[in-house]
Amino acid sequence: MDKPAICGGKPIRGTKIFYGHQYIDDADIQAVVEVLKSDYLTCGPKIEELEKKLCAVTGAKYAVVCSNGTAALHMACQAAGIGAGDEMITTPITFAASANCALYCGAKPVFADINEETYNIDPAHVESLTTEKTKAVVAVDYTGQSVELDRLLAHCRKHNLVLIEDGAHVIGTSYNGKKNGSIADMTTLSFHPVKTVTGGEGGAVLTNSEEYYQKLLLYRSHGITKNPAKMEHEPDGPWYYEQVALGMNYRMTDMQAALIISQLDKLPLFMKRRKEIVKAYDEAFSKLPQLFVQKEIPQSDTTRHLYILRIIPEKLKIDRKQFFEALAAENICCQVHYIPVYYFPYYEKLGYQKGLCPKAEKLYEEEISLPLYYAMTDQDVDDVIQAVTKIVEYFKR
Ligand SMILES: *Cc1c(COP(=O)(O)O)cnc(C)c1O
Repeated sequence: MDKPAICGGKPIRGTKIFYGHQYIDDADIQAVVEVLKSDYLTCGPKIEELEKKLCAVTGAKYAVVCSNGTAALHMACQAAGIGAGDEMITTPITFAASANCALYCGAKPVFADINEETYNIDPAHVESLTTEKTKAVVAVDYTGQSVELDRLLAHCRKHNLVLIEDGAHVIGTSYNGKKNGSIADMTTLSFHPVKTVTGGEGGAVLTNSEEYYQKLLLYRSHGITKNPAKMEHEPDGPWYYEQVALGMNYRMTDMQAALIISQLDKLPLFMKRRKEIVKAYDEAFSKLPQLFVQKEIPQSDTTRHLYILRIIPEKLKIDRKQFFEALAAENICCQVHYIPVYYFPYYEKLGYQKGLCPKAEKLYEEEISLPLYYAMTDQDVDDVIQAVTKIVEYFKR
């Protein structure tokens, strides 16, 4: 039996591979250069072009692009009217921003546990946590798999809650044949470099609601309007503009927008390759009883942003940390998504305690995010599979 590198064996590969990496081609570079040579670096024509393209790609009626996914979540919560004294239900297995957006608005994040097989927020727990104070649900399409939108939407309609989908992972995924982004009240996207499509930084809110759309436009840019129809005072000159709400500067630059437009041309390729890699991983790992393969709901046609390797600790002599280190020794550099949000000291000081969501906490003890990105070669994918298999075989009980 081959010895793992962590026990003195030969690493599976000589160069490091990381869990995510952007793919930038000449067309992307050219698109950004063209903007730099043009008249507009921000608030120019690329913004609207990208918004139209996002609508075409997702089927949403309106898109408002912004500086990043966190800004998108903040604006969506503002547009939903979330404020002091309100509660917002979300999952702990997410990036902190999905919960922080409630705090930005003075509201309280309430954490619902996950489904232990799909790892997405459990609608039954959302239902049982709903009170008169609940205003919105921020449901994260974790790893790119759609949340159970039918059930969540039905619940939100019944209790007059706003359903915000944190779709930072979801671009390319459909639910019951419709693209995510065209279903929930609002869906936020992120274009951070580890996400499927990147602008360096960037975000967007998608919605079918004209009312939310108008609010989002205001919040993106200081709450200032130049449209006389929306003003409260008579303009006193052609320069006149008016601040009618408290907004932020969450605008995206035209360089970012041009890069994202160019990246979106490659989305079908990105989707295809990610699906191939996930299939290869699933096939290999489902043969190893020491591992648990993430379950998919049949409604979701998923483009995965993350691939979660989940170990079954009772069947191995090593724990997740040792497994992670063993992979690193093979030059497979992974990450863990995510530390339950309420573990963080900031949340501890707000009074959140461990034990809140046992299934989420168990997932955190057992998960590792493996490399998954468009530019991975077949050899890269095979190296990851060989490394995982070698470690499992060596340390299995
Ligand atoms: C990346 C991410 C965000 C934040 O997006 P940024 O563009 O980095 O601000 C929010 N939620 C989830 C689930 C994410 O993965």
